[in-house]
Amino acid sequence: MKALDELTFDNRFARLGDAFSTHVLPEPLDEPRLVVASNAAMALLDLDPAVAETPVFAELFSGHKLWAEAEPRAMVYSGHQFGGYTPQLGDGRGLLLGEVYNEAGEHWDLHLKGAGMTPYSRMGDGRAVLRSSIREFLASEALHALGIPSSRALCVIGSSTPVWREKQERGAMVLRLAHSHIRFGHFEYFYYTKKPEQQAELAEHVLNLHYPECREQPEPYMAMFREIVERNAEMIAKWQAYGFCHGVMNTDNMSILGITFDFGPFAFLDDFDAHFICNHSDHEGRYSFSNQVPIGQWNLSALAQALTPFISVDALKEALGLYLPLYQAHYLDLMRRRLGLTTAEDDDQKLVEQLLKLMQNSGVDYTLFFRRLGDESAALAVARLRDDFVDLAGFDAWAERYKARVARDGDYSEVQRRERMHAVNPLYILRNYLAQNAIAAAESGDYSEVRRLHEVLSKPFEEQVGMEQYAQRPPDWGKHLEISCSS
Ligand code: AMP
Ligand code: MG
Repeated sequence: MKALDELTFDNRFARLGDAFSTHVLPEPLDEPRLVVASNAAMALLDLDPAVAETPVFAELFSGHKLWAEAEPRAMVYSGHQFGGYTPQLGDGRGLLLGEVYNEAGEHWDLHLKGAGMTPYSRMGDGRAVLRSSIREFLASEALHALGIPSSRALCVIGSSTPVWREKQERGAMVLRLAHSHIRFGHFEYFYYTKKPEQQAELAEHVLNLHYPECREQPEPYMAMFREIVERNAEMIAKWQAYGFCHGVMNTDNMSILGITFDFGPFAFLDDFDAHFICNHSDHEGRYSFSNQVPIGQWNLSALAQALTPFISVDALKEALGLYLPLYQAHYLDLMRRRLGLTTAEDDDQKLVEQLLKLMQNSGVDYTLFFRRLGDESAALAVARLRDDFVDLAGFDAWAERYKARVARDGDYSEVQRRERMHAVNPLYILRNYLAQNAIAAAESGDYSEVRRLHEVLSKPFEEQVGMEQYAQRPPDWGKHLEISCSS
């Protein structure tokens, strides 16, 4: 275990120089206080969880103090936003404080979001509000606990600094961790500004540090792009299987590592709805739940375009062609497991699609349906779940097919079935209304609800005593909440 002043820095991205990022000091927040910290994320830096409670912790992650070895930088990038190209974005309110490596030899970027203005702030104030910082913290740690690749969050620090959005709110900072903060948009920036040397330097950097195994391949860049395609296909398959809607899949929010990144108006589905749009400024539904799959490919194509100086168009096309089949294979594999199946049959895809259609028509709770399906034998479970469906004949027909499919799958005891299914079907997910409750309490100075919710979500598959209220469908007020897109 390390104390806060024992972190070891190795700022590899900062060393790329001023063409890639700009030195900027964080602008401190007033009266910093710890809102919540993640022990699991602290462990990634070998930090003793007890240090989160010390005053210096809140000072470090609110811009008041800085390690001598930290080299805070705002990164430059661009990206396609809602399909249109924006030539320059960049860290407008976040800073890469530096890269820390832990005892296991892993490098972690320390990224402080809400750290003040940078040369890339455009019209923004460089700040993040408490509400959106809590949402990012809860989401990144909850996704990780579900097994969905994500950036991580170390802590949220609140403050008394006023920040204006639709109304006056308070500024906060979230300390984000990831092996890299390089986005698709980094490559697009150097491609569209016609800076081939820097683009090559960036590509070498990513290859050497993040895809070293691709170095062994005959065409290392090609191998790296293929790996990026694969990771994205897998990440998005997991989003779809668990009902996660990102909301702002612009290419500047897509990580080169294939992790979920840059949380805004995201939501987990309550009732299953393929057409769900969590971002209410997304009028055309470009980033609706079901569109996430083709948009994943669209974004990879945008990255491919930026990689044309290194990889032939034919090879890029071939790699892009892997996306959909890989996505489908991962998705179906996960959905089979969610249904309790251990073998594969050709008609399984249909079985899943029919179920989702029935759930859609009846507004069935996506998370609880699968959890309850594993509570008992297939026959008993479907008999009990039947009441949730409006189209009873349709559900009965599906239930018969499902029971027959389960019978062909194997002969398991109820206990085996429950254990296997509960290990992939969470009881607790980050429902918007749960986040809203925690945020409302935090805004009035009570952080206990954020902390409790974070704890519950860190073990989403495990039934936790006394936590029944976190495993319920939303109350009427909590359905279809409009989450502000300002953050
Ligand atoms: P996002 O939609 O959060 O991914 O942000 C898109 C771009 O806007 C990025 O370049 C952000 O750094 C920038 N940005 C978002 N909010 C602010 C803010 N309050 N101040 C400055 N820049 C911001
Ligand atoms: Mg962003």
